[in-house]
Amino acid sequence: MGERNLEKNIYFIDEDGELETDDHQDSIIVEMREYQEQPFEGEIEKPPELQKFIEWVIPEIEDYLSKYETDLNSPTLKMIHLLPKEFYKKHMPTEGSDGFSCREGVVLNEERFKNFNLNLALNLIHEILHYFSFKKHCRSGETGDHSQRRSGLTVDSASPLEGTPDDIKLKALNEAITETLTFQVYINKIKGGPFFEDDVKKLDSSLPEEYRGKGYNVYPKTSSYGPYESLFYDLVKKIAVVDDKYTDNEDTKDVFYKAYFNGRLLPLARMLRKVDKDCLHDLAEIGAIPNNENLQKVNELRKKYGLGEDRETNEQLEKEVKQK
Ligand SMILES: [Zn+2]
Repeated sequence: MGERNLEKNIYFIDEDGELETDDHQDSIIVEMREYQEQPFEGEIEKPPELQKFIEWVIPEIEDYLSKYETDLNSPTLKMIHLLPKEFYKKHMPTEGSDGFSCREGVVLNEERFKNFNLNLALNLIHEILHYFSFKKHCRSGETGDHSQRRSGLTVDSASPLEGTPDDIKLKALNEAITETLTFQVYINKIKGGPFFEDDVKKLDSSLPEEYRGKGYNVYPKTSSYGPYESLFYDLVKKIAVVDDKYTDNEDTKDVFYKAYFNGRLLPLARMLRKVDKDCLHDLAEIGAIPNNENLQKVNELRKKYGLGEDRETNEQLEKEVKQK
C-alpha cells in the first residue's frame, strides 16, 4: 500500500464501513476532481474581477488555515462554477442564496454575482471553507456510488449520535464555525489585502472614535448565522467556567476548528461533556437554517445551559414569527 499523496482529509468508506484501500482512495479522488473541474453545461465564464479574486483568495485562505497544522483539501479555480439563474434554481437548496458547496464543487448564482462586492466575497469564502473542511463519503451497496456523509463538523446520526440513518447532525455548529472562520479570513487577509479596500475603510469608519486603532473590527453583515455564532461564542465562555483546562477562549475555539478540519470529534465531545453530558446531543439537533424551529432550539439550549439571552437571536426569532 503506497502512501496517500492526494487530499488527506477526504475519506471514502466502503459498504462494510471500512476505509477503501489507499490506492483506491487516490483513484476515487482523482476521478472526483476531474468531475468537479468539468464545466457544467451552460456554465458562465467568470468575470475577470471574480476570477482574479478567487485566484488570489484560495492560497490566502490556505495560508491562514496552515496554523491549524492539518491537511487540507484545496479547491481549484475550476471547481468554482458560475451558473445562470435558471440552471442554478434547479440545483439550489434555498431560494435566493448566493451559492453553496456540493459534490460538484462550489456552485454560484450568476444573478447574485453580477455586481461582485465585499458581502458576496465573504459568502464565497464561506463556501470555499466548506470545501476545505473534513469530508467523508460512504459507498452505497445499491448504486456503488459514494455519497457525502460528513462535511466539517457534521455527523451521520447513525454514528455517535442516535437517530435515523439519513439524518445529518451538528449542521448549526458547522455553519457557526464556517462563519467565524470566514471573519477570521476577513480580518487577517481581506483587511490590508488588494481587494475591497474602500469597503473595508468605510466599514471601519463606522466604528465609534474611542474604539478606533485598538484592534476592534466591524464585521460586514453577510449571513443570518449570527444566532449560531453567538451560541458558539457563549459556549466557549461557558467551557472556561466549567473546565480549568480551557480558560483561554482562543485555545477552546481551536479545538472546534481543528475538529472541523481533521474530522476528529472526540476532543470536542470530551470538552462539551464538561458543560453537560447532553450538550453535544442538544447541539446536534439544531438544523442548518436559522428558521423559527431552529432558533427556538437555540433559545432552549441557551436557557438549559445558562448561556444568557442573545439580542440578535431574539430579534431574528421575532421576525420569523411575524413572517408566519
Ligand atoms: Zn454554510
